[in-house]
Amino acid sequence: MDQAVIEKNAPAASNGHMTPQPASAAPARLLVVDDNAAVLDAYRKVLTPARLSSEALDVLEAALFDAPLAASQSHPNFQVDYLQDGEQAARQALAGRNEERPYAVAFVDMRMPGGWDGMQTIEALWQADPRIQVVICTAYSDHSWEDITNRLGWSDRLLILRKPFEKVEVLQMASALSRKWMLHRELQLELDVLECSVAQRTFDLTEALAEREAYATQLQFQATHDTLTGLANRNLLRDRLSQAIAYASRYGHPIWVAFLDLDRFKVINDTLGHRAGDTLLNTIADRLKLVLREADAIARIGGDEFVLVLRGPEHSTLSAATLQRIMTIVAEPIILEARPYSISCSVGVAVYPSDGTTPETLIEHADIAMYRAKESGRGNFQFFTQEMNLRLLERANLEQALRAAIARDEFVVHYQPQVDLRSGRIIGMEALIRWNHPQMGMVSPARFISVAEESGLIGQIGLWVLRTACAQCRKWQRHGMAPLRVAVNLSARQMADKHLVESIAAVLEETELPPSLLEIEITESSVMSDVDHSIAVLRAFKDLGVQLAIDDFGTGYSSLSYLKRFPIDVLKIDQSFVHDVESDPDSAAIVVSIISLAHSLRLQVIAEGVETAAQLAYLQRNDCDYIQGFHFCRPLAALDFEALLFAEKSLAIDTGEDAPARETLLIVDDEAPILEMLKLVLEQDGYQILVAQTATEAFDLLASNQVHVVICDQRMPGMDGIAFLSKIKNLYPAAVRVMLSAHDESKMIIGAINQGAIFSYFVKPCDSATLRHGVRNAFRHHRDHHAVTHREVH
Ligand code: C2E
Ligand code: CA
Ligand code: CA
Repeated sequence: MDQAVIEKNAPAASNGHMTPQPASAAPARLLVVDDNAAVLDAYRKVLTPARLSSEALDVLEAALFDAPLAASQSHPNFQVDYLQDGEQAARQALAGRNEERPYAVAFVDMRMPGGWDGMQTIEALWQADPRIQVVICTAYSDHSWEDITNRLGWSDRLLILRKPFEKVEVLQMASALSRKWMLHRELQLELDVLECSVAQRTFDLTEALAEREAYATQLQFQATHDTLTGLANRNLLRDRLSQAIAYASRYGHPIWVAFLDLDRFKVINDTLGHRAGDTLLNTIADRLKLVLREADAIARIGGDEFVLVLRGPEHSTLSAATLQRIMTIVAEPIILEARPYSISCSVGVAVYPSDGTTPETLIEHADIAMYRAKESGRGNFQFFTQEMNLRLLERANLEQALRAAIARDEFVVHYQPQVDLRSGRIIGMEALIRWNHPQMGMVSPARFISVAEESGLIGQIGLWVLRTACAQCRKWQRHGMAPLRVAVNLSARQMADKHLVESIAAVLEETELPPSLLEIEITESSVMSDVDHSIAVLRAFKDLGVQLAIDDFGTGYSSLSYLKRFPIDVLKIDQSFVHDVESDPDSAAIVVSIISLAHSLRLQVIAEGVETAAQLAYLQRNDCDYIQGFHFCRPLAALDFEALLFAEKSLAIDTGEDAPARETLLIVDDEAPILEMLKLVLEQDGYQILVAQTATEAFDLLASNQVHVVICDQRMPGMDGIAFLSKIKNLYPAAVRVMLSAHDESKMIIGAINQGAIFSYFVKPCDSATLRHGVRNAFRHHRDHHAVTHREVH
């Protein structure tokens, strides 16, 4: 096959009027394919005639003629490749396209024996570059136009040149087609640019739309979520609850709406600051999210208030155990300011459909139930009952009734004596308000004080109590009774009153009560909410000369460091500790430590709610200063209290100083005959013998007697002997503990001995000599280890 002949013509003439391409563009590329070298030559003469020193010629011509050269004399500028082989032409076309130097026009001979024929070449050319304009050169005898279009299809890229052809025909075709190609290409370029900019605009628009959508989503999120914790807010909760209700009503499922409120959150927030408060809320929120799998929704709808929507029955998350688990998760310790805090919560539950069928009523009823849970001692849960709702309505009515009560003067003050444990004498009294309602009779302050606080009526009512109590106290003093101290309760709400100190000063002046006879009782929580303000107010009280007491001590924050900063005089031990002081080692430990704490800070201690002789004896033995409680006297109307004073009622105090204690033995057994028999045997040794058939009886005896040795049976209903003696070990470590047991229990008992709960034991049945000997040893042990004098008997 002949070598391809490739020639380039000269650069475009500077005056080229017929230039088919923009001045900046390269000359159009042409391909000529013919197997006959002579034909190729003929093409060459037409398309790229040799133009020797064309520049020189131009200059000459320009010198001869004034005008520019005639158009006919000018020649269009092509770059032409002359090839003898179709296959090579196709390769060349592909390369040109790939190198971005595409061919505009191809002249292809129809008949090229020995290689590809024209049709095949054209097909291949278009495959390589579909934009190429093709001129097919054919003799009349070759193919008909029909044949050609049948094979190549109708196309505006195809022209036929019949052989033999005119030179000018070739030139015109080359010019027109390359111009067409060029225009097409420019158009395409413009189209591309246009398309590009449309794409860009579309992209920009999409982006802007996406941005707007994200913004809208964010707005939507903010409108439906709590910003601090990211939990749903009240709006979203209502939606979710509506959905849950719709679903539940269709399938007949119940739903629980659990209203969860943190206990004492305010104290943390006020004492550790809002940052710590926020950390706490976020931690709780995270923990609640963990239970989300079981819940349909969790929302935070107020400061420390969360609501959970729990569904049943196929999820079967509706059980008290689930609630308990959630409460346990909440109460796990949280580190705040490097110290662990455990925050319990109170939960109220309303059930769909029995407690309500709309989100609003369910949430409201769960809220009411939560309040009840708080009232009944925090850290627990309550289910809503219709009776609670009635109470709420009653509350609203109560406020109205309280206003009327103030106007109608229906309040009275009762007085409960406080007794000195050393002398047994009444040293003062606590003023306690009652409402003498025309229909309901005497209403307890527990029923109405909180409503009075919430409605703000407490200010007026509290001041009235203060004035009444001070006037009463002053009256008794005038009647010649020993000066008594009157204690008046002050609510947290009153602490915030700016004119409080002034008002108290005015009352003292008006009633002429010596300020030292007034004691003001405040609770820990009411001073802890704003410590600095409280200290200022309490100092002002002290400047007036009144006494200050912390009420219900032990139930609140009980922070020692704050206690030291408050100018207080008295601690009142809360009733709940006094209540089981003689039987519960924890309560006993708290009472004993409050007493010693108070004394080390030079404060006096009053134990409240003393109801039994045993409690009294325990407190007395542990050095408590004063007591107040039903055991000595209930709160009395002023006249009754006066009678008490006239009668000089006092507490019989066993000072225990007159005679050294007799050796005392306590025998505990639930079977009366055995008790009787043991008593008979051991009485021979002259001990004072006390007997008890139950642990409770035994605790009472221990509280009011000094017991040196305790014998008890291992098997007792309620509490076994080891548990009982272990408690005694904590409450009365000095009492020596002896156990009676059956043979097969010895292993367990040895364990108890090793833990120090038991001094010795006897295996039943045992003879009286062994028993007497063992008990004698126990008393000897007591004498040796405790410097207590025992009275020798006989
Ligand atoms: P508190 O200040 O702790 O008062 C002691 C309560 O314990 C009184 O209840 C009293 O009757 C009762 N109590 C006394 N001894 C015993 C006992 O041995 N056993 C038992 N179980 N209870 C005993 P009360 O009078 O019903 O008052 C309840 C609460 O109402 C008071 O608790 C106090 O917080 C509040 N309160 C009473 N009067 C006033 C007042 O004038 N102003 C204010 N702000 N609150 C008052
Ligand atoms: Ca009180
Ligand atoms: Ca109290």
